[in-house]
Amino acid sequence: MLSDIEIAQRSKLKPILEIAKELGIPNEYLFPYGHYKAKVDVNFLKKLEDRPDGKLILVTATTPTPAGEGKTTTTVGLTQALVKLGKKAMLCLREPSLGPCFGVKGGAAGGGYSQVLPMEEINLHFTGDIHAVESAHNLLAALLDNHLHQGNALNIDPREITWRRAMDMNERALRNIVIGLGGKANGVPRESGFDITVASEVMAILCLSKDISDLKERLSNIVVGYTTKGDMVKVKDLKAQGAMAALLKEAINPNLVQTIEHVPAFVHGGPFANIAHGTNSIVATKMALKLRDYAVVEAGFASDLGAEKFFDIVCRLAGLSPSAVVLVTTIRALKHHGGVSKEALSQENLQALALGLENLEAHLDILSNFGLPVVIALNKFSSDTEKEVNMVREAAEKRGARIALSEVWEKGGDGGIELAREVLAATEENKTYKPLYDLDLPLREKIKTIATKIYGADDVEYTPQALSTVKDLEERGFGKLPVCMAKTQLSISDDPKKLGRPKNYKINVREVRISAGAGFIVAICGNIMTMPGLPKKPAAESIDIDSDGNITGLF
Ligand code: ADP
Ligand code: MG
Repeated sequence: MLSDIEIAQRSKLKPILEIAKELGIPNEYLFPYGHYKAKVDVNFLKKLEDRPDGKLILVTATTPTPAGEGKTTTTVGLTQALVKLGKKAMLCLREPSLGPCFGVKGGAAGGGYSQVLPMEEINLHFTGDIHAVESAHNLLAALLDNHLHQGNALNIDPREITWRRAMDMNERALRNIVIGLGGKANGVPRESGFDITVASEVMAILCLSKDISDLKERLSNIVVGYTTKGDMVKVKDLKAQGAMAALLKEAINPNLVQTIEHVPAFVHGGPFANIAHGTNSIVATKMALKLRDYAVVEAGFASDLGAEKFFDIVCRLAGLSPSAVVLVTTIRALKHHGGVSKEALSQENLQALALGLENLEAHLDILSNFGLPVVIALNKFSSDTEKEVNMVREAAEKRGARIALSEVWEKGGDGGIELAREVLAATEENKTYKPLYDLDLPLREKIKTIATKIYGADDVEYTPQALSTVKDLEERGFGKLPVCMAKTQLSISDDPKKLGRPKNYKINVREVRISAGAGFIVAICGNIMTMPGLPKKPAAESIDIDSDGNITGLF
C-alpha cells in the first residue's frame, strides 16, 4: 500500500484554471497561486447572490483517538462519490496548521485515494493565510505593548492584558513568557505567552466574516484587556483594525484546489475546534453552495464539539441551512472506547466493540438535538473484520439509523457510492435544522443546555472566577452571544480519560472568556491546550526533501 504522499505525488492534477472554468468562475475573480491553487475573490460572492443555494452536508465524527478517525478523508471521498453519481458537488475543508503536521497527527489533506492536492503545499504554508493571520495577531500585540511603552494613554492595566502572541508551531516552551526585559528602552516588563495561530481570535474572525467590512468591524471589537478602572480595551481603542484587515486582504479570499479525482474543493481558514468554532470560512461555504448543488463541509473533532458549534454558532450567524449530517466512525475508535489499548486496536475484539458502541449511540443522540437526518459512515480500515463490521451495522439498524460502509480511503469515490446514496436519500427528507438553545437564555442556561443535552452531564460547576466573569459579561451586555465550549476532544466529557459515554458527572467551567470580535463567549472546561507541544518522536523527524525538491514523510 502506498503512503498518502506517494499516492498524492502519483496523481495527475488538472490546471486550476480548468477547475475554475468548470465552476464558472470568471478570470477577473480568480487569482492563481502557481498552477494548482487559486484564490477566488471574496467579492465574487456578491455576483452570485441571486442564485439558489445547493444542499449543505456536514461531516462530523464519534469521539476520536489521537490519530483522527477520517473525517477529512470521508469528506473528500463522499464528495468524489457524489460526483461519480452525476451530482454537481464540491467540498470545503479547513487549512492544515503546521503544529499538528510536525507533531503526532500529521497533515490534514485527507488520506489514501481521498485527498486534496497538492497535499505538500496545502499542508506546508499553502497560500500563506495562516501566516497572514499570525501577522495580524502579532501586529496587534506589538501595538499594544508599544502603547504601554509610549505612556499608556489608555491606562491599560499591564496585569489585565488578555491578548497574547501567536505562532503556527507546537511550541510548549513559549506558552508562558516574560517580555519587556532589559530596562526602560525595551518596553514594559510583563507576563505574556504564545498560542498556536489557529487558536487566535483573528482566525475565528476571518472564518466568520462575510466580507472585508465585516472583517474590519469584527477585528475592531476584539477585547485585548482592561484599563486600571476595569473598562474593556478594544482593538478600536488602539486603532489597529485597519492595518490588521489590510494584512488579511488576501487571506479572506477562499482557496480553490482539487481532489485526486479533480473534484473542486475550497480549503480555507482553520480555527481550532476547542477554543474556537472549528469549521472553514463562511465565505467558502457560501460560495460552494452557490457554485454547486451539494457542498460537503467538515467540522473539527467530534459531534459534541465541531457539530454543536457548527449548528449553534456558524449556521446561526451565516444563515446556513444544512440538509444532512454524516457521522464518521471507525471500528478502531469504538474499540478504543471499549477499553482496548492502542497496540491491540488491529485485533478483532467483539466484546470491546460492543462496549464501545455506546460512544456511537451517544453521538447519534447528540445529533438528534438538531433535527437533521444522520448517516453513519463506517470508515473501513484493513484490520476490520466482517464480524466487527456486521456488529456496527446491526447496532445502527436496531436504532433505525442510516449506515454505510465507506471505503473511500482505499478506493476513492468508488468506495463511497453506498454512502453517497444514503446521504442523497437523507437530504431528500427535506428536514430543517434547529439550533440547540435560544440566544436569549442567560449564559449559564446556555452552558447548562450544552452540558446536559450534548455532553450528558448532570450539571455544571463553576470556579468562583468563572462565575464572576459570567456575571460581569452579562452586565456589560454580552449575555446574548452564543457559547463556544472549550474542552478536550478525547471525551464527550471534559475529562480526556472518560471514554465511551460518560455519565453521572458534572462539567467544570474553569474560566470564561469573551471573543467579542468573533462574537461568542468561550467557556473553558478542564485543561485545554491553546499551544500544543511536540511528542517524543515528532513527525518532523521523518520529513525530508531531496535535491529535486520532492518532499517525503508527510502524512
Ligand atoms: P480527521 O479528519 O478525522 O482528523 P483524517 O481524514 O485526517 O482524519 O485521517 C487521519 C489519518 O488516518 C490520515 O493519515 C488518513 O490517511 C488515515 N486514514 C483515514 N481513513 C483511513 C482508512 N480507512 N484506512 C487507513 N488509514 C486511514
Ligand atoms: Mg480533519
